[in-house]
Amino acid sequence: MSDKNISKKIKIEDVTSLPLELESQQKASKEKIGSVTEGKLTLYDRQKRNVERFHELLRKKMTRQLASSMVACVHCGMCAESCHYCLSRPDDPQMTPVYKADQIRRIFKKHIDWTGRVFPKWVKAGSPVTDEDLNHLKNIVFGTCSACRRCTFNCPMGVDTALLIRFARGILTDLGIVPEGVFNVSRDQWETGNQMAVTEEDYLETLDWMKEELQEELDNPDIDIPIDTEDCDFMYTINPREIKFDPRSISHAAKIFHFADEKWTMPKWGWDQTNFGLFSGDDKLGAYVAKNVYEAAERLRAKRIVISECGHGYRSTRWEGYNWAEYDQNIPAESVILTLMRYIQNGRIKVNPAKNSEPVTFHDSCNIARSGGLLEEPRWVLNKVCSDYREMSPNRRENFCCAGGGGLLSMAEYKPLRMEVAKIKADQLKATGAKLVCTICHNCVDGLTDLIKHYDLDMKVVQVLELVSHALVV
Ligand code: SF4
Ligand code: SF4
Repeated sequence: MSDKNISKKIKIEDVTSLPLELESQQKASKEKIGSVTEGKLTLYDRQKRNVERFHELLRKKMTRQLASSMVACVHCGMCAESCHYCLSRPDDPQMTPVYKADQIRRIFKKHIDWTGRVFPKWVKAGSPVTDEDLNHLKNIVFGTCSACRRCTFNCPMGVDTALLIRFARGILTDLGIVPEGVFNVSRDQWETGNQMAVTEEDYLETLDWMKEELQEELDNPDIDIPIDTEDCDFMYTINPREIKFDPRSISHAAKIFHFADEKWTMPKWGWDQTNFGLFSGDDKLGAYVAKNVYEAAERLRAKRIVISECGHGYRSTRWEGYNWAEYDQNIPAESVILTLMRYIQNGRIKVNPAKNSEPVTFHDSCNIARSGGLLEEPRWVLNKVCSDYREMSPNRRENFCCAGGGGLLSMAEYKPLRMEVAKIKADQLKATGAKLVCTICHNCVDGLTDLIKHYDLDMKVVQVLELVSHALVV
């Protein structure tokens, strides 16, 4: 690790005092974009009694599940050891999960819980007074937590700190008190149905381009990337990053599906499985995006939805989306990892691990491992397609976040802190001695790539589809 990257610790006040940037909001207001005029996206308005509205929303959105995480904490401090922020800055109490959660908990105590009325000092009840206080809270809940839920799994009382963080993020989103990146990505997903504002034309052209390349590579003009085909075995959804920056991941998938003789399709609309509502705490956005996918599958009468390699897309589409959208799960959804596993188990594709001989390790995406329960399946596939697989330690549910989770990749202002706390992950990667780190999440690809560059690691990030495609015996 080079000296330049054993960086000086940044001052935490430089993070928590970052101002509320409004340039994008002002532009959206001037342009009168639909998501603003229709009230889907809230713009910040200093005249609007924001502190009072915060308290109202706190009451309105409170659930039994949230309340139990508010009251169950016994302040034992055990969660501190699970947080990569805290482990990277052990002398900074503001990095402990319990400190972050307490910034929300104190407001709950003051306005909802009886203990705050009877013993306000004892339970440290308190309240934001000005919009600046709300902005300070914004910097804590968006800037100092990647919502990885590692602390949740290590709390003896079952406190879900990440749930409290998302709850506070959601209230602040309803007031327009959000980082610019959060506003911009939410706007794009509301306006275009996908997080990266990919137009339908770009989407279809990219798929066409990938199809032609595949036809050429395999010298077979019949190979297709089907769009809007009805009655297929599955509808394949993707992360818009695949269209914008990594279209090869789509051709890897198409190649594998071709050799598995699969009847599959991609939808013309409802193809974005990612869901910024998970990160911003905006359940309305969460419902809108998830519904797009579910309705596309129903429209095409697909038997299943297959979700490409994406952590928060998997969690949102497979688990949370049904609740946000209040949607009955008529069509099952699964990660493409399960699809690949079945192909290999049933002999629908043949693979040769010798084709991937470089040492490879696996990074568990927080949203797939801790919050999605897929632990052994990716390892099973990797052991079939790679000849030198090395486990990282700790791993599975105890794995550390790539440091770019929770939507942090879209919030440039928090990057210096993100890179500093990524040291835990960098050390973990380095200890494996692997040349490749494989992950089943496009968000983690970017998070890991950033830290590999920052800490000068001799490693490359790959994904499972790429390794399986490479190992195919044709
Ligand atoms: S959140 Fe859990 S682990 Fe952390 S201080 Fe509270 S009770 Fe202890
Ligand atoms: S969710 Fe992750 S980043 Fe956030 S406080 Fe807990 S361990 Fe730290």
